[in-house]
Amino acid sequence: MPTIYSDKQAKTILSRASGYLDTGFTHSLNPYSGCAFACRYCYVREMPVQTFKDEPWGDWVERKTNAAELYVQEVRRLRRKNEPVRLFMSSATDPYQPIEREAKLTRQLLEAMLDAPPDFLQIQTRSPLVGRDLDLLILLNGQCQLLVSLTVETDREDMKRLFAPHAPAIQQRLKTLTALHDAGITTQAALSPVLPFTPAFPELLQGIVDRIWIDTLRIGDGTMGRRSKRLGMPELFAQEGLEAWYAEDIHLRIDRYFRKFFPDQMIRLSKTEAYPDETSGSR
Ligand code: SF4
Repeated sequence: MPTIYSDKQAKTILSRASGYLDTGFTHSLNPYSGCAFACRYCYVREMPVQTFKDEPWGDWVERKTNAAELYVQEVRRLRRKNEPVRLFMSSATDPYQPIEREAKLTRQLLEAMLDAPPDFLQIQTRSPLVGRDLDLLILLNGQCQLLVSLTVETDREDMKRLFAPHAPAIQQRLKTLTALHDAGITTQAALSPVLPFTPAFPELLQGIVDRIWIDTLRIGDGTMGRRSKRLGMPELFAQEGLEAWYAEDIHLRIDRYFRKFFPDQMIRLSKTEAYPDETSGSR
């Protein structure tokens, strides 16, 4: 079914960081509600924003058309109170929805940030479209601490097709990481949630990321695996003969494997190490 798009005037745009983000971030920033990528494992499917909707997850996207305007107002209010602004964009959508090509809400937000910069911005996306905004990212990089994190759950396109068929191709995400890194932007590969990969996966990330963050469906869904279970993930892994990749200690095994290829300070594991600090490869 084609995605249903609509516009809305949001009441606020910055949400106080809680749960998984309450580790150093102060706010999350979601320019859209809903998500056209419709990943099968997406934990937002289990959250009120979706459970109170009639349309299935992936079939609807709302554009928060006043996002940039609200951002400036809210950041200025926080600054008047001397409050820090450490942003995660985005936690319940992807800020580079396909419709972002025309809607440009995320681009408008980056422009607004040049006038009212946060202290720290982490962009979290699966989309190569973030590369369109390289001009603004380069400027913003001089004004605040910036991390662009591309989700790269696996290097296997067959796994991507199985778990996230509507998300952009892995190869495109790797190319985007290369371009951002070459331009001097601090980059992260978010192996989150980790899906079965080939032994060559770490080598594909060498030289294009400053940081690798690992999380799994079992420990990274905000409910220690209960949401992933409700979404049928254990069954999907079993149906494909991939049970070993859903093992209780899989995060530890993957962490150990990646440490053979990267220095310890580049590897971060799950919630407690999600927030970047000065030791984690910022350039
Ligand atoms: S891109 Fe993110 S928000 Fe969108 S469906 Fe996938 S996991 Fe959910």
